[in-house]
Amino acid sequence: MRLAIVGAGPAGIYAADLLIKAERDFGVEIDLFEQLPAPYGLVRYGVSPDHPRIKGIITALREVLDRGAGGEDAGAQRTGEGTAPSGSIRYFGNVRYGQDLTLDDLKRHYHAVIFATGAIRDADLSIPGIDAEGSYGAADFVSWFDGHPDVPRTWPLEAAQVGVIGNGNVALDVSRMLIKHPEDLLPTEIPANVYEGLQASPIEELHLFGRRGPAYVKFTPLELRELGEVRDVDMVVDERDFDLDDPYVDEHLMKNKQIVVITRVMNQWREAQRARRAGEAPQASRRLHLHFWSRPVEVVTDDAGRVAGLKIERTAPDGSGGVIDTGEFEVIPMQSLYRAIGYFGSPLDEIPFDDRRGVIPNRQGRVLDAAGDQVPGVYATGWIKRGPVGLIGHTKSDAMETLECLIEDRESWWTPEIEDPSAMPALLSERNVPYTTIEGWHRLDEHELGLGEAEGRTRVKVVPRDEMTRISRGE
Ligand code: NAP
Repeated sequence: MRLAIVGAGPAGIYAADLLIKAERDFGVEIDLFEQLPAPYGLVRYGVSPDHPRIKGIITALREVLDRGAGGEDAGAQRTGEGTAPSGSIRYFGNVRYGQDLTLDDLKRHYHAVIFATGAIRDADLSIPGIDAEGSYGAADFVSWFDGHPDVPRTWPLEAAQVGVIGNGNVALDVSRMLIKHPEDLLPTEIPANVYEGLQASPIEELHLFGRRGPAYVKFTPLELRELGEVRDVDMVVDERDFDLDDPYVDEHLMKNKQIVVITRVMNQWREAQRARRAGEAPQASRRLHLHFWSRPVEVVTDDAGRVAGLKIERTAPDGSGGVIDTGEFEVIPMQSLYRAIGYFGSPLDEIPFDDRRGVIPNRQGRVLDAAGDQVPGVYATGWIKRGPVGLIGHTKSDAMETLECLIEDRESWWTPEIEDPSAMPALLSERNVPYTTIEGWHRLDEHELGLGEAEGRTRVKVVPRDEMTRISRGE
């Protein structure tokens, strides 16, 4: 079987690995296409640089690619000389589906395709003023601090007071990166331009907003605790947020161990706050305020149309896990605002798309058309299949479900006209696509590690796409 996978993040790489294992006896040849010169998707460009443990997943992903490339045979595969060994994965980076390759091309060369393109955009928040200068999507900021080649090199960090909307792990990542003293990020792989940008930030106060209560948060205990451990930052809570009568919490939420730990962490912060207020503990130079029961209703702007504050409406528990509005409003002054309310997938050429959910419509990974019928040969996995929820590990079981369907559908696969593996690299070269390979990634990886070593740091990421491509291609 010859299979194309579009997207070399964890979803695509896990799918490739699992398929090779599942079809061990049949010899699957997988071509993995990635729009960026480097693989690993959100692990490289979404996981915060100060989370080396999660970034470490790259080691396992790399092993899959290396094993799939057949070690020494990788060179032959890259140039398209010879035949890919049974159970092979070839990586083609810097290849954009819809631009460099079409669905027709895939049909001509493969039996089926799996889209694993993830979700990299910010979900919309439809409130007045959200497009004001100084109002940003978290996904864009994450791309910036993780050195994504397709975002500008500079980020305006001029605000002393900053707001972050959302109570998920991305909101915590963004808050931590904004409030941390940049020197504490130096041992990580943050790009040089990011370190310089953060150094110039005059931030003093960060306000984090959740539209529900402290027991309804989506973030995880480890990440929350980590936020409280950031040096020289006081955690500020509003005692009113913890006093609301809400039977739903005891009946349902406190059965969840994570919520029990989260509650414990916040109670420690409340204690520390009492001690500070009683003059028993020193004050830090930066503060992170947690605002719960706060629904964003409007971004307040100044005369120049820049963010000047966030107007929130106090909410209250409705007794069944939701909230009611109270009619009580407040404006919290700030000069910049980030919304971290979830990611959203992007549509792909010639592939059905659900505009409301930001996913490819599918049944267990089988892509469905507008009438709800299966589109033969087309599958989806990862966040573009199920939406932007769950940790990286969840992607494996998700890929398994898709692969089971794909294997079961053998009869309805495409019939490729061209089965010669050298035809795809030849086609890309003919179209002047400067594609990168797994060997090229090794070259770039070593280059980045070398830059890091010279500065006593883990790695220094190469950010511009052209430079990444040139180094990968040994040009
Ligand atoms: P998320 O976990 O779904 O959190 C989204 C947050 O936005 C929720 O608090 C949600 O509140 C809030 N929200 C949504 N719409 C809103 C609105 N209109 N107004 C106000 N608030 C709104 O999404 P995420 O933070 O983007 O994370 C995505 C996934 O990646 C998660 O599974 C996360 O755990 C994972 N991730 C993990 C890590 C890590 O392990 N370190 C780091 C980053 C991301 P409601 O609950 O009220 O809807």
